[in-house]
Amino acid sequence: MHSIDSEISDVLKEQQPAASEQVNQNAANLVCCEECDVVYKRVELKKGEKAYCLRCGAALYKNGRTLEQLLPLVIASLMIFAISNAYPIVQIELQGIRSETTLFGAVMAMFHEGRSLVAILVLLTTIIFPLCELLLLLYVLLPVTLLKTRPLGMAIALRVIRVFRIWGMIEVFLIGVLVTLVKLVVMVTIIPGVALWSFAALTVLMVLVMSVKVSDIWDQVEEL
Ligand SMILES: [Zn+2]
Repeated sequence: MHSIDSEISDVLKEQQPAASEQVNQNAANLVCCEECDVVYKRVELKKGEKAYCLRCGAALYKNGRTLEQLLPLVIASLMIFAISNAYPIVQIELQGIRSETTLFGAVMAMFHEGRSLVAILVLLTTIIFPLCELLLLLYVLLPVTLLKTRPLGMAIALRVIRVFRIWGMIEVFLIGVLVTLVKLVVMVTIIPGVALWSFAALTVLMVLVMSVKVSDIWDQVEEL
């Protein structure tokens, strides 16, 4: 899952620019297949073209305005994230009192019911991980696409995003949603309203956001 290309770029940027310029140039011309680790020499692509690995067929890189397309997706995801967490998603009945609550409220209720493990899993996969990834992407994309500058600590931000993805975030995210729904059914009723539908839309948007590789973001930042 490691892209040697961006690893090399990360390390070189922390050295003296004059000394590393030549090496940096060479490293930027190499691309490593994330699936089978074959290293290729980068060739210029026409707009909209995509390079694939000869050995395993995995996508290597493409020539497109990736980041300009990713930014509106990230902003839309954050808005839908806010909506899905602002509206009640479940109805809880506690000691005869019926109340509607948001996803976060449901997580808190699970804590109080003694289901801490499920509560933490749901909190991480449905609220904290997606929110962190979206905010980090926004932090990198806003200055890079609008001001054509690199934000402070960009390398760290991109590394953190990559760590999230190595853990297989989409799968965990989807399982988190499933666990939430199944576990909640036992003690609460799901409200088929704004929160539930925007949550479904958010899942689709997150799949699209995560389809853009961190190495593609690096590649485009290199051209600044
Ligand atoms: Zn390959």
